[in-house]
Amino acid sequence: MARMRKATAIVVPLALSVAVVAFAGPAESKLPQQSPIDVTLESLRYDPHLPPLNVSYGHSDIELTYIRKDQDSPTGCTTRDHEETEEAEVEPGAGHVTLSGVRYDLVQFHFHTPSEHRFHGQSTPLEMHLVHRNAAQELLVIGIPLTVGPASTVDKVLADLAPECGANVHVGEIDLNTLLPHDRTTARYNGSLTTYPFSENVKWFLMREKTVTQATITRFQQLFTSGNARATQPLNGRTVTVGRPHI
Ligand SMILES: [Zn+2]
Repeated sequence: MARMRKATAIVVPLALSVAVVAFAGPAESKLPQQSPIDVTLESLRYDPHLPPLNVSYGHSDIELTYIRKDQDSPTGCTTRDHEETEEAEVEPGAGHVTLSGVRYDLVQFHFHTPSEHRFHGQSTPLEMHLVHRNAAQELLVIGIPLTVGPASTVDKVLADLAPECGANVHVGEIDLNTLLPHDRTTARYNGSLTTYPFSENVKWFLMREKTVTQATITRFQQLFTSGNARATQPLNGRTVTVGRPHI
C-alpha cells in the first residue's frame, strides 16, 4: 500500500524508526511482519470462527491524484519512483467496514503493478489496495488482484491517469461496492505498509480477483514502466487464515 493521508497517523516507536533508517534504507525493513507476502498453500489455515468482515460501502465522488515521493528531485516530475502511485480519494463517510465491532473508514484506494501479493508465486498485472482507518488510527487494507477481462469500475477510475506534476483527475461518482468481488471470502494476515516507513500492525484482507481491460493495464504500466510494487517479504512464521465462504 502507499502512503497514509496524515503523517501523524503513522505510529512507529522512535527506536524502530531509527533502526529502519539505519539498517534498511527506503526499500527494505528489518521488522518481522512485513507486507506484501507470497500466499502459499502451506501458509493457509482454515478457521470457521473468524469474525466476519462486514462491508458497508455506498457511493462516492472520486478524485484521482498522483502520490509523489520525489518532490526534492529536480527531475522528479518525469521520474517514476517505485513507491509512487495513482490514488483515488474517497469522500469521508462514503464507505466503511466493521470487524469485531470496530469501524474502519475507507480513506482511499490505489494501485500497484505488478501485484504486490503473490499466490503460490504467481502475480497479477495489477493489485488494488483499499485503505481503511479506525478511530485509533489503525489500518485495515483490502487487497484485490486485478486480471485481464471484462471492463469494471476500475477502468472508469483509471481512464485518465493523474500526472505527477499537474492537476488531479475528477473521476465522478462510483458505487464503491462494485470495486469488490461478489465473493467476499477473505484471506487475512497481519502485515505492514508496503512503502516507507513500513509500519506494522496493518490488518490485511485479501479478496478474490476482479477484472480490468488490457487497455487500462497497459495505460498504468506505461506510466510506471519499472513497476511500483514492493518485493514479497518473509512470512517469519505467520499464517494466512481463511474463514467461512462469504458470498
Ligand atoms: Zn498499496
